[in-house]
Amino acid sequence: MLNVIQLLPDSIANQIAAGEVVQRPASVVKELLENSVDAHAKSIQLIVREAGRNLIQIVDDGVGMSETDARMSFERHATSKIRSSDDLFRIRTMGFRGEALASIAAVAQIEMRTRRAADELGTLIRIEGSDLKTQEAVSCLPGTNILVKNLFFNVPARRNFLKSNSVEMRHIIDEFQRVALAHPEVAFSLFHNDQEIYNLPVGKLSRRIIDMFGKSYREQLAYCEEQTPYVTVKGYIGKPESAKKTRNEQFFFVNNRFIRHNYLHHAVIGAYEGTLPDNSHPFYVLFVEIDPSHIDINIHPTKTEIKFDDERSVYAIMMAAVRKAVGVYNLAPSLDFES
Ligand code: ADP
Ligand code: MG
Repeated sequence: MLNVIQLLPDSIANQIAAGEVVQRPASVVKELLENSVDAHAKSIQLIVREAGRNLIQIVDDGVGMSETDARMSFERHATSKIRSSDDLFRIRTMGFRGEALASIAAVAQIEMRTRRAADELGTLIRIEGSDLKTQEAVSCLPGTNILVKNLFFNVPARRNFLKSNSVEMRHIIDEFQRVALAHPEVAFSLFHNDQEIYNLPVGKLSRRIIDMFGKSYREQLAYCEEQTPYVTVKGYIGKPESAKKTRNEQFFFVNNRFIRHNYLHHAVIGAYEGTLPDNSHPFYVLFVEIDPSHIDINIHPTKTEIKFDDERSVYAIMMAAVRKAVGVYNLAPSLDFES
């Protein structure tokens, strides 16, 4: 009898992996924005067309890549961010799985220009559905400029499954907001079909929130902070009367990574203690800083879930931080911005 098991070719393996990492245009946006942040960019431009169906382009002024790294970056499990399993317990970067570019390249047409500041020339790479089409030297600005065209061109079922432009754009904006809120020290802009949606200069977190959500937030924010040896919580919450009917202005970050956490959400809501109008949802942008050895972020490929080794402590400290801010605000309604 013949043996029947074969290793899958990389192109198929990548396409399967892409099913997890790349669900829609917004997933590409998230991965590319995070790569630019990890590359220490000071300014990041996001340009999309047709809600990312036709084009998602990110231009950064980060560290760029060598010619070899530029090619390697599209290999699966290829990363500059971790080297050993121990590193998994001290992750400070957004990425570390080395899967995103390989996955995106499996289901789109990619054109990337990248250059390190010290190099005279950069590298241009074109890849379509994991096939390398071009690799050549080019003159280009330092940093990385990547275009992702015709997402899911080779997976029609996925392409057809995409929702309306307004729904896909909403997801893109959500991802953009998460990264931009976590990095007020970086300038961000977002263009959709040549229309400027955001242009966010470098500034403090309070400024970033106001630039993103509107001037009315100037009077609505209260600063929160609580520190213990185990964890620090800081950020801004909205005053109770500014609470909204929808929940899409609620953000938790752990070591600058956006996460969803129902348990912590419960702590925040609990801290408002009946001050919220019925069926309303307070604004919050809250950052948890914790030693990476106390968390596990490797639960899900998109890394939006997290486990703390002492969840109850984080809960208690979160609640204390918010309770204090709500209380302080009740006594003194004037805004107490971070200095
Ligand atoms: P990960 O981010 O998990 O390492 P990716 O597939 O997203 O995996 O990227 C692979 C590698 O390519 C990164 O580790 C990094 O070295 C390099 N890279 C990707 N994007 C950029 C960028 N914008 N600037 C510089 N290097 C980049
Ligand atoms: Mg990455």
